[in-house]
Amino acid sequence: MHDKFVCDELLKHISEYVDGTLREDLCVQLEEHIHSCHNCEIVLNTLKKTIDLYQGTSDMERSLPDDVRSRLFARLDLDDFIEKS
Ligand SMILES: [Zn+2]
Repeated sequence: MHDKFVCDELLKHISEYVDGTLREDLCVQLEEHIHSCHNCEIVLNTLKKTIDLYQGTSDMERSLPDDVRSRLFARLDLDDFIEKS
């Protein structure tokens, strides 16, 4: 089974994916990758949970401000996460 989507590629698109702004064909590839990559599944679940927490604190904010997003990604240390596995 060959993955078109590598973990690096997925991480470039994952924030668009959780925002629901990612192109549909890329969404499909990303979802397929996540099904076969436990590592990325964890990353996505963690990100979704964190975003839910942020959005839960304010109904006014439908999308994450850029600074919140960068802090989020910094905290998750996604690059480390991928390289170690
Ligand atoms: Zn992956």
